[in-house]
Amino acid sequence: MGQAWVWAGGDAVAGAMTVVHCKIRHHRANDTASTMKPIQLFDPASSTYTYLLFDQASREALIIDPVDEQIERDLAVLHEYGLRLVWAVETHAHADHITSAGQLAELAGARTAAPLGCGIGTAGVQLQHGDTLRFGAETLQALHTPGHTAGSMSFVWRDHVFTGDTLLIQGCGRTDFQSGSASALYHSITRVLFALPEQTTVWPGHDYQGRSHSSIGQEKAGNARIAGKSEAEFLATMAALDLPRPRRIDEAVPANLSSGLRHDADGALLMQPRPTQAGYAGDVSPPLAWRWVQAGEAVLVDVRTDAEREWVGFVPGGVPVAWKQWPGMALNPQFDQAIQQAAAGGKKLVLLCRSGVRSIAAAQRATQLGLEAFNILEGFEGDPNAQAQRGQLGGWRHHGLPWRQH
Ligand code: FE
Repeated sequence: MGQAWVWAGGDAVAGAMTVVHCKIRHHRANDTASTMKPIQLFDPASSTYTYLLFDQASREALIIDPVDEQIERDLAVLHEYGLRLVWAVETHAHADHITSAGQLAELAGARTAAPLGCGIGTAGVQLQHGDTLRFGAETLQALHTPGHTAGSMSFVWRDHVFTGDTLLIQGCGRTDFQSGSASALYHSITRVLFALPEQTTVWPGHDYQGRSHSSIGQEKAGNARIAGKSEAEFLATMAALDLPRPRRIDEAVPANLSSGLRHDADGALLMQPRPTQAGYAGDVSPPLAWRWVQAGEAVLVDVRTDAEREWVGFVPGGVPVAWKQWPGMALNPQFDQAIQQAAAGGKKLVLLCRSGVRSIAAAQRATQLGLEAFNILEGFEGDPNAQAQRGQLGGWRHHGLPWRQH
């Protein structure tokens, strides 16, 4: 094909690609299945491997387990290869580093995906066993491999498997915290991963000794923890590990449950409704609106158009009551009836639009109808920045609150 392809780790000295603050190796190779490899990137502070896969023709890319301290490196690699990041994917909610998935969504336009069982509410796609993600003509398939955590997944791409902390080279992830289960891990490794073809390349989530990859055949034959072991022997080994608590767990796990987006500034102010003279109950920040919804005190009403919810994304559980409809943006003749129905349970209403303008008009109308209606400040996407891009100056997504895309 004459196009530069990428060998990561490859058969070079283990750790060659792990030097990734500096250079990425290029290697000219034919575009055949056997030569397609992921770009393997390494975070030395947490010994975490991040993987970047891409489709050669469309340049669409997918990243697995990105690390927040490495975001500039990762954006530089995307730029260097002329890639457009379409997916940022987690194998699980990590305890040893914070993900950059949320930032990659904002800065590179990626969609976020995470295993359904990991409680990462901000991920746009919640993956179930067997689900696939497409990037260009390529496909990544999710395998539920619980054990390290209950939600943990591995991902298969061509003849490669990205095992996260489920299966490591000559080892496996720990199972003594975060809903871990040694028994579940035994079954995930022996029945799910070891069922893959033996030549499948294993790309682990970590390595602490500079090794880059392995294969299913090698691990089946020689993995010190599990090869040839009965479940009882494996459980005994895992129970005897007695590992120290991860240094960053208290910081990392909560941050990773919101795709790594943290908004700790002016927390107290964010959690107070602001009174208004404008003919509705008041203004609330997106985090306060979400807290009320979670506490069962309020119903979130999404007053954007059907098209905006469909294309941009939506809040799970929100009630769609368009204030105006596209095309034409004429007032929705069903608005009064639909919003009264949304308030029928006697809860207060929190109204969401794109940037907090339409929701004011809708809240005023709802107040005229006798309802208690609050406007959600900043809306779903916030105001546009100097480059006319939304999503970086506030808004529901910017606060790291749950949202989805179809
Ligand atoms: Fe982990």
